[in-house]
Amino acid sequence: MPEGKIMKALSGFYYVKDQDAVIQCRGRGIFRKNKITPLVGDFVEYQADNAQEGYILDIQSRKNELVRPPIANVDQAVLVFSAVEPDFSTSLLDRFLVLVESHHIRPVICISKIDLLDKEQEQNIQEFADDYRRIGYEVILTSAKWEESMALLKPILDDTVTVFAGQSGVGKSSILNALRPDLELKTDAISSSLGRGKHTTRHVELIEIGEGFVADTPGFSALEFSELELEELSDCFPEMAEASEQCKFRGCLHMNEPKCAVKSAVETGDIKQYRYDHYQQFYEEIKSRKPRY
Ligand code: GDP
Ligand code: ZN
Repeated sequence: MPEGKIMKALSGFYYVKDQDAVIQCRGRGIFRKNKITPLVGDFVEYQADNAQEGYILDIQSRKNELVRPPIANVDQAVLVFSAVEPDFSTSLLDRFLVLVESHHIRPVICISKIDLLDKEQEQNIQEFADDYRRIGYEVILTSAKWEESMALLKPILDDTVTVFAGQSGVGKSSILNALRPDLELKTDAISSSLGRGKHTTRHVELIEIGEGFVADTPGFSALEFSELELEELSDCFPEMAEASEQCKFRGCLHMNEPKCAVKSAVETGDIKQYRYDHYQQFYEEIKSRKPRY
């Protein structure tokens, strides 16, 4: 049975890429009966009626699935944060990191618009970049105006399904357009020009960039921790997860417990104070389940 990956879903058709061919498929009736909707990013088995058309017969189990945009099997999220315009915010970055980590998706931090920085601002941003590298994250500094930045980003996308994420105005569309100038991508702009809210899903499509696949719609636009439990929060801070192995109490939540290794690491500076502050802030937010952003 031939297999492929769904690149696009539109009006009841699924566009399945198999090697260099794209086959326009319908879902089998049984999916509708079982309320299973094939998603962009799904690996499927299909039956071809001819070189262009066919039917999806089976969907392989998913590694993960996002709701907005609706997409399955996401490997990686490139978190775009501008150094300026809007200003870099570790609080918002940590929020995105927690959301991405909780979906078991690999984050890559992309600090954009560095062409706009003076020496002092650049030094400041480099220090933040080093903080996050020390935690183990890949951090790249880019400008959509510089070709060498795009050369830095491209290999990161190879062999993965990637979503871009980040506030509006940070330069996501500029980067995607610089990577695929032939496509004229319209990310956020299209939904506002059609008068729809930002959270309305339109159709999503995977586009090929080099050897990788990238969603043409940004992900993680809802910034609440609605699915996260308190006990899971410190696992989304890799440096705290590591330190917590030495906490005296199993199930330590690193708030008021005695002999907490996470709090000791904050005191010695091994864990950055601002990371721990954000942990506490998100902790309170999950506890009261009231989003505040
Ligand atoms: P998006 O909302 O994240 O897709 O952001 P856009 O790509 O639409 O960019 C928002 C604004 O920032 C636009 O006016 C862009 O021209 C500008 N911009 C984006 N990237 C860069 C960059 O690397 N350098 C500079 N100087 N401006 C940029
Ligand atoms: Zn602890």
